[in-house]
Amino acid sequence: MNKNNLSEIYVGWNPWHGCTKISPGCKYCYVYRQDEMYGSVTNSSLCSKNAAFDLPVKKNRWGSYKIPSGKIIFTCFTSDFLLADADEWRDECWRMMRIRSDCMFYFFTKRIDRLKEYLPPDWNDGYDNVIIGCTIENQDRADYRLPIFLSLPIKHKTIIAAPLLENIFISDYLDSSIEEVSVGGESGMYARPCNYDWILNLREQCIQKDIPFNFHQTGANFIKDKRLYRIKRRYQKSQAQKANINYKIGKFSIPEAALSNLMQGGCPDSESFRELTLFDMWED
Ligand code: SF4
Repeated sequence: MNKNNLSEIYVGWNPWHGCTKISPGCKYCYVYRQDEMYGSVTNSSLCSKNAAFDLPVKKNRWGSYKIPSGKIIFTCFTSDFLLADADEWRDECWRMMRIRSDCMFYFFTKRIDRLKEYLPPDWNDGYDNVIIGCTIENQDRADYRLPIFLSLPIKHKTIIAAPLLENIFISDYLDSSIEEVSVGGESGMYARPCNYDWILNLREQCIQKDIPFNFHQTGANFIKDKRLYRIKRRYQKSQAQKANINYKIGKFSIPEAALSNLMQGGCPDSESFRELTLFDMWED
């Protein structure tokens, strides 16, 4: 994949908006932050169907799909695809994914424990064009969600360790069905710190099991060598790239830039906060 053309490869599709918080990783949810930033009057915890609900099958005046063939469609990034409030709409989404077998659909979820019950009848061992990312943020949620994730029939599995809130050990859950582990810190004004040692620890676990590893963003408060760095949102991805610690990324083409952009949300960093961003952070 040519990483210079990422914006031409992925598109976003948010069939509904709004979500309820279910675990520590949700505390400063980017959906809530974005809604606040844009002055939304709607309660972010209320889920509502979006006008673009049927975007994948929408056609233009010439009869072609608005989303061209070959795109990676990032699905449901302003909610959780497995949210209970959206149960009545999900079958239609599965149907659209089936119709658009010429595109890849990728969603993350903190509700992997609901997947089995809500799979479509023809799912079998998974749709070829659906990638599911199981999100974890701490050891407790990893130990709960990952055994469930491993047990499920899914063609393309990734683990999203973000926002990473503590040192976690997932080696026992890394088998060959996992196509990528993507790790990042938390964004936003109140972001909890992420320690580089935790990132390196996860990387080592992935290398030991030969699983592709992607450090996609530092987050806003990043600890390296016991020093806290405050990193503006626009540098969180580039600083992670500068670490140059990705492992075998590219085996399966998940554009980390897209993940980063979609996950960061739009919460601006406080200008009053003392700026500690250092561009030579990796050159100690
Ligand atoms: S969108 Fe994700 S982070 Fe936000 S409340 Fe829902 S599950 Fe939590």
